[in-house]
Amino acid sequence: MSIAVRPPTLKDHSVREFDMLIDGQWVAGEGGRTLERVAPSHGVVASRYHIAARKDVEAAIAAARRAFDTGPWPRMRGAERAEVLNRTADLIEKHADEIAFLDAFEAGKPITQVRGEIAGAVDIWRYAAALARDLHGESYNTLGEGTLGVVLREPIGVVSIITPWNFPFLIVSQKLPFALAAGCTCVVKPSELTSGSTLLLGRLLIEAGLPAGAVNIVAGTGAEVGALMTGHADVDMVSFTGSTGVGRLTMKNAADTLKKVSLELGGKNPQIVFPDANLEEFADAAVFGAFFNAGECCNAGSRLILHKSIAPEALERIRALSQRVRVGDPLDPSTQVGAIITPEHLAKVSAYVADAKAGGAAVALGGETLDLGAGQFMAPTILDRVTPDMAVAREEVFGPVLSVLTFETMDEAIAIANSVDYGLSASVWSASMDTCVKVARSVRAGTIWTNTFMDGASELPFGGYGQSGLGRELGRHAVEDYTETKTLNMHLGPRTGWWVPRE
Ligand code: NDP
Repeated sequence: MSIAVRPPTLKDHSVREFDMLIDGQWVAGEGGRTLERVAPSHGVVASRYHIAARKDVEAAIAAARRAFDTGPWPRMRGAERAEVLNRTADLIEKHADEIAFLDAFEAGKPITQVRGEIAGAVDIWRYAAALARDLHGESYNTLGEGTLGVVLREPIGVVSIITPWNFPFLIVSQKLPFALAAGCTCVVKPSELTSGSTLLLGRLLIEAGLPAGAVNIVAGTGAEVGALMTGHADVDMVSFTGSTGVGRLTMKNAADTLKKVSLELGGKNPQIVFPDANLEEFADAAVFGAFFNAGECCNAGSRLILHKSIAPEALERIRALSQRVRVGDPLDPSTQVGAIITPEHLAKVSAYVADAKAGGAAVALGGETLDLGAGQFMAPTILDRVTPDMAVAREEVFGPVLSVLTFETMDEAIAIANSVDYGLSASVWSASMDTCVKVARSVRAGTIWTNTFMDGASELPFGGYGQSGLGRELGRHAVEDYTETKTLNMHLGPRTGWWVPRE
C-alpha cells in the first residue's frame, strides 16, 4: 500500500516548563513534583509540568470558593464579564501560534488542523461573551394581583472542569467561557498528556483582567487530582469530557455531595448511506470522518452502514481517497493525520484490528502501524465485512479505523445504528429529504447530519444520548447549564393566609 508519509523532523526544540495557576499566582506546588510529556510524534520531551499534591488541589478549590463567595466575578455586570471574555478571545488570536505548537507537539495533532480548532475556540469565547450579557430569567405577571413571580438565574458556584487529550484547547473552550459567562468560578484540570495549552490559557485570562481565584488550573493525573476535584464538598458542579468509564466514575464520586454533573463521553457514530446518495461527496466525508484527528475523536464516523447495492462502489471510492491521506509529522503544515497519543493506545487500537480480522473482517486498507523513525503512527485502516456484533463495530476504537457494514432496508439500517450503547452523532446520506428526515428522527443521537459530516457551530448544542453523556454544551442554553434557578415569589398588598380568612 502506498501511503503519503511525512517523517517527523525537528529543529530548535526546547522543553516547555509550566507552573500551576492557584489564586492568581503561578506556583510549583507542594513537594515540587513534576511530570514530563513526551511528544508522540518525535519521541522527545515536549513539556514539563509541576503537578498538584492534595494540598494544592484543596488550595485551588478554596481559592475558587472564596472568589465565588466574596469575590467580584459573580457580582459583575454581564457586560463587564463579556469584556474579559472578549479580551481573552483577542489574546488567544494573538498567541495562536504558541497554542497551536503546544497542542500539535503534545497531542501529535496536525498543526494546520489545530489552527482551525483555535479559530473555532475564539468564536466560542466570543459567543459566550455575547451570552453573558443576555443571561436572564423569567417573570410571571399572571399570578393574580397579590403576586409577582420572578425566576432568577444565578451562577451555580464552583465548577470543576476536567478535559481529555484529544482536543486540549478546543474542549476547555467548550466549557470554561460558558461557566465564566454565568458568573461561576472554576478549577480546571487538563489531561496529564496535554496540559500545556490550558496552562497557557491561564496566562491569557490573567492578562485579560480575570480576578484572582476565578480560574485555577492544576496539573496532574485523573486518579489523584481529578478524583479530588469531583468529590470535594466545596465544588458545586463537575463538567467532564473523556471516556465513558471515567464519566461513570465521576458521577459516582459526585453523588455523595449531590453535585450537578455534565458529561461529554464517547461515541460510535454511524454514517448511513442510501443508493440515491452523492457518493463522491460521501466518500470525502467518510475519509474525513474516520481519519480526522487520527480517529481519536468522540465524533469520529467510525461505522459506515452502506446500502448493499452501492457498497462496492462506495468502498472503492473511500479506499482510493484514503490512500492519498498524508500521515506523519504533525508540525508539517501539509500533514492530515498525525501521531497516536501513546504507545499503549496504539497497542489498544491494533488489538481491535487483530480481533476484527480473527472474527472474519477483511482489511481493505492499512491495518498496520507505520515506522517513521520516531513516535508512533498508524496507517488509515478500512475494515470490510464487519458485522454488528463485532467489538470493532460496537466499541469506541479511538484510532484511524473505519468499519464497513451493510444493510438492505431502512428499518435494518436504523436498527444497526441504534444497536450500540453510544448515541453521540450520526449522519444520513440520501437525495430524498423524506429519507433523511425519517432516519434523523429515528436514530438516537445528539447530533444528526444530513448529507454532510462533523460540521458544527458555536450556536448548535453538542452532546450525547445514552452512554455518550449527560447534558449539552454550546448553543444558547450552554450558559444556563452553569446556573441555578431561584424563584422569587413576591407578595403585594396585605397578606391573608392560615389564620386570617381569605376574602
Ligand atoms: P479519560 O476518561 O481517561 O480522561 C479524561 C480526563 O479525566 C483526563 O483529564 C483524565 O486525567 C481525567 N481522569 C482520569 N481518571 C479520573 C478520575 N478517576 N477522576 C477524575 N478524572 C479522571 O479519557 P482520555 O483523556 O483518554 O480521552 C479519550 C476519551 O474521551 C475517549 O474515550 C473519548 O471518546 C472521550 N471524549 C469524548 C468527547 C465528547 O465530547 N463526547 C470529546 C473528547 C473525548 P489524566 O488523563 O490526566 O489521568
